[in-house]
Amino acid sequence: MKLYANVDIVNRRLASHGMKGNNKKIKSHVAIGKKPLEDGQKEIFIMVSNTQQRQGMKFPIIGNIEQVFTRLVNEGKTTIRFKEPENDLCIHGDPIEVKSFLSVLKKVLSGQDVEKLTLSALQPLSNKQIAGPKRKLTVAKRSEYPVKEGFPQTLTHVKINGIRLAKIDKRILKLMNLTELDLMENEIEILPEDCEALTRLSILNVASNKINVIPRGFSAGQLSNTLTSLNLTSNSIKLLPNHVCQLAQLVSFHIDENELTQLPPSLGNLSKLKILTATNNKIKFLPGSSAALRLEKLDISNNPWDESQARVVSNKLTGVSNLLELSACQVITHKIKYEPEDMFPQLLRYLESVMFCPCKKPIWNNVARAMVKLQLARISSSVSCNGLKEINMDAFLCSSKCLKTFVNNPFAF
Ligand SMILES: [Zn+2]
Repeated sequence: MKLYANVDIVNRRLASHGMKGNNKKIKSHVAIGKKPLEDGQKEIFIMVSNTQQRQGMKFPIIGNIEQVFTRLVNEGKTTIRFKEPENDLCIHGDPIEVKSFLSVLKKVLSGQDVEKLTLSALQPLSNKQIAGPKRKLTVAKRSEYPVKEGFPQTLTHVKINGIRLAKIDKRILKLMNLTELDLMENEIEILPEDCEALTRLSILNVASNKINVIPRGFSAGQLSNTLTSLNLTSNSIKLLPNHVCQLAQLVSFHIDENELTQLPPSLGNLSKLKILTATNNKIKFLPGSSAALRLEKLDISNNPWDESQARVVSNKLTGVSNLLELSACQVITHKIKYEPEDMFPQLLRYLESVMFCPCKKPIWNNVARAMVKLQLARISSSVSCNGLKEINMDAFLCSSKCLKTFVNNPFAF
């Protein structure tokens, strides 16, 4: 049983004489292990190894633990008080790892058959082991790219910049502990379809690449649960697919300097979004759902905003939708699962071209389109838009009732 955590070994005798240690926790390996004794018995120890204790400091366990403090164990903190030497082992690590360490310790103390427990061999650690698992990787030159060594599973941060990387390495997409991935200034064209193994990825920066395709799997899969920051600035994106709005945890979204002519219709579904920047594109209108946004910062400067009058642009509303639209509406409304490979491509394209009325109803052809003025100050506390205070927002509406409501007050939905 081994734990890698911050550890401080406090000498109680010194502390009681007013001489506290440096009280600094050091990254250490804490192992529970056994050592054979001459009489054939085995003694069980806790061994702490770190850069200052390379050989490892051993504390016998049986009959030598005065108390184990577990009040803060949910925060990953615990203190083990030994009788001899008079030391307190203050541990702060990952709560789950600390708990499982303590449960092994408890089994040892309760005299359970130690042969059955997985205990470590109490060997001094190598320099590499003492340095601890590798968490961060930075590559700034092609020669630093770990072509052969690969990427250790322990990595939480990967930064690969300016090496003309043409696609994202599949091995990176398997890093389950990765929280931050920075691939700025490369030549990546397509975002990955399968990110299911990236269960902790929160920050993705792919600014200054050549991205022009954002596959459905990228936004509709695992990343929709974890991704809070996405930077797509300076790429070649012409169309931001509506499924991007399934990235429900997004707080910060940068899409400046692309070739967008519009923002996705369901943008307003990003209910956690606080920062949105989309400067230097070719956007003319904001989507109707924008009225639902509550941002702290909105920068949409340098776009060719349409400044025409508010009006009903088109009205193709018919009493009843055709059969295709009615059934597609059921598929989307009831979230009926479908596999792209089971579908005719035309049907798949039709389903994916869905728009939503501000009332949330899925719509296709049986729609009216209207344009109203949106006061930017109502959706963001800080606004930059070349001095413009209001912008045309266009929406597709499902019925005469929704059309009337939208024209009178787009915030009414
Ligand atoms: Zn509607």
